[in-house]
Amino acid sequence: MRALVLAALVAAPLAAADAPPAVDYTAERAVIARYQDANQRLQDAGWRLARGNAPFCPRVIPAIGLQVQDMASYGGPDVARAALGLTRDFAVNVAAAGSPAALSGAVTRNREIVRLEGLDPNDWPVTPPIDWTRTARAHDHIDAMLAEHGGITIAFAGGTEARVAAVEVCASRFDLFADPDPDIVDRIYADGKRVWFGLASPNFAYAEPEFAAAVAHELAHNVLGHDAWLDRNGRKPKHVRLIEREADRLLPWLLANAGYDPEAGVRWMTRWGKEHDSGFKRRRTHDGWDERADMIAAEVPLVRAALATEGKADWARHFRREIDPAGGLLPRAKR
Ligand SMILES: [Zn+2]
Repeated sequence: MRALVLAALVAAPLAAADAPPAVDYTAERAVIARYQDANQRLQDAGWRLARGNAPFCPRVIPAIGLQVQDMASYGGPDVARAALGLTRDFAVNVAAAGSPAALSGAVTRNREIVRLEGLDPNDWPVTPPIDWTRTARAHDHIDAMLAEHGGITIAFAGGTEARVAAVEVCASRFDLFADPDPDIVDRIYADGKRVWFGLASPNFAYAEPEFAAAVAHELAHNVLGHDAWLDRNGRKPKHVRLIEREADRLLPWLLANAGYDPEAGVRWMTRWGKEHDSGFKRRRTHDGWDERADMIAAEVPLVRAALATEGKADWARHFRREIDPAGGLLPRAKR
């Protein structure tokens, strides 16, 4: 699934390298900007949620809120490079609002990167076009440096450097994809390690708190260990229904810790349900949208009570699980 999604990411709209010479760079820049604007929204909401809930997540990692881009990943690397005014291939893609990368002031969109803590990612082998291996390698390298040193030095074209110190966030990445298949590119999902948003997701039309609720639903799947639980226990409709309920019910908790109105989860489900719930098709794995909205709403007073008494929505202590997250693991003696 991931390989398919990555292969198509922002490849389609760009002209191929051997296309006719009259490249409309203004249009190419607009395509990239539209993709980056959507990515900015996803990274901003994802950062707030992953940062605000770090005290309660079972696994946290050091992060700086930076996504890089590699021209080799585009469908037309030469066109993309010229459109963005780069000499080589690596540049800042997005710095999440409020993240150490954004607060540094140095990590700005499309700024050319020449070194990541001693290594120049432009020197790594790659087979353009539409090759994502260096992008993934750069993010893995950044994560490794942050885990090892608590920060990373980023050098930009022109000789400027920025040292960015990491903070802890819930262990999940957020990725935007632009699959050319219209039946795929409007989807959102979580795979245990990442939250995936398709560029055509209807959620991008929503105001920020409701958009964040959609991100929070997918993040909930990752922080509650749903993918691994389904792997161990089977993806039967009744199992999917349980984990979907948990993801919905955790929404107000995640939103509150990120500084959003916990009611936004109810508004998101109500709007999404009225516009998109096709009823019977999803009914075996998901409750109806009105029942889902009611279940989200029922958590809001619990969240408000926790905020009033403890100043935080500690879902690690107070959230009622629908599944045993360790369920399906072999008993210790039999391992
Ligand atoms: Zn879900």
